[in-house]
Formats: sequence, C-alpha cells, structure tokens
Amino acid sequence: MIELAELFYSLQGEGPFAGRPAVFVRLSRCLPPLCPWCDTAFAWQPGSLVAVDELVGKIIAYDCSFVVITGGEPFLQWSSGLQSLEEALIGRGCFIQYETSGKLDLPRQSKGFTVCSPKFLDGSWHFSNTNCSVVDAYKFVVEDDFQVVDEFIKERDIPAEKVWIMPRGASRDAQLANFEAIWQYCVKRGFSFSPRLHTLAFDNKKGV
Ligand code: SF4
Repeated sequence: MIELAELFYSLQGEGPFAGRPAVFVRLSRCLPPLCPWCDTAFAWQPGSLVAVDELVGKIIAYDCSFVVITGGEPFLQWSSGLQSLEEALIGRGCFIQYETSGKLDLPRQSKGFTVCSPKFLDGSWHFSNTNCSVVDAYKFVVEDDFQVVDEFIKERDIPAEKVWIMPRGASRDAQLANFEAIWQYCVKRGFSFSPRLHTLAFDNKKGV
C-alpha cells in the first residue's frame, strides 16, 4: 500500500526537468526535523491508503510517461510500497524522478532519477552522507546563504554539473528579488540556475 497525499498532472516547476509535463505523486509523511518554511505541510499528515496496482492505473491514465514522486519524504515508504510502485511504473515505460531531502539513507537499488534538496536547519545540514553516490542532482534553495552551500558542496566533492540553485521566495516578488544574486552566483561557480516556474506563473497559489 501507498500512503498518498495528492495526485495531479502539471508541469515540473523546478530543477533539471523544469518545464516538462509530469504526473505528480505526493506521498504522505516526512521526518524530523520538519522545515519551518515547508510549503507542503499538509503532506506531514496521514494520507489515503491506496493499493499499488490501483495507483499505477491512476498514474497511467494521465498518459504521461514522466512521473515525479515527491512528498513529504517519499523514501519513507520504500519498503511498504514505493519499491513496488517504481518497478510497476518502469515496467510500463515511465521515467521516474524523485524529490527527496536526503535526510534518510536512500535505497541504492532505486532506478529513478533522484533529485535531492538538502535541508540546513538549526545550524547544520540534515543529510545522510551515504547518499552522495545515489543522488543524481542537487537542488539548493538560496537567499544569501551562499557560504553554507559552498561548504556542503566542497566537503562532499560534488561536481558543479550536478548542482541547481533556486532563489528562495514563496511569492513571485520575493523570488524575483533574488534572481540577480543567484544568477551571478551560478555563473561564478558553474552551477545551473533553476527558477521556480510555478511561483513565477501563479504567485503563491497552491495546487498547481
Ligand atoms: S523535508 Fe521537504 S516536505 Fe519535509 S518538512 Fe522539509 S520541505 Fe517539507
């Protein structure tokens, strides 16, 4: 069974696949420490229990082969249903992209493309270093905290081509205010810049 928070079809708004049509599968529950700026806090709550076969059917019905599995923290459900969901979707020709914080150890046998957004909370990174060999791309949400991001990347010897930087900001204006500084930072370091397209398009409207 999968504990599901929401299922919808939209465009991927950020990261390496920004702009691409996607089915979003948001799984319930996260693990502490919870982020005070979280914009999907509803996913911390218990979700609807759905059988894997039923969920596969609903996903396939969108007729879109790009599936984003996010949370909450999706990998909390690896053993209880996510692994079966991944196998079934790949067997149907889907490409799976995960969104994770990397707070917990990620499964090495996963065949999805793993995008990790490490969380800096209360003065430290909440990231399991065993994940460095599993993560395909890193996304950092930055305002003026360039130094802590630089340190994270340097300490783990992460290549620049695996790094995407996004401007912090829950509203369109707040995001745009950070654009120039993030742009300059990316140019200097050789990182990729990622806007948050859903916020630029819809401001702080939810569910898009
Ligand atoms: S890890 Fe992600 S889903 Fe969990 S509290 Fe932080 S921002 Fe929210």
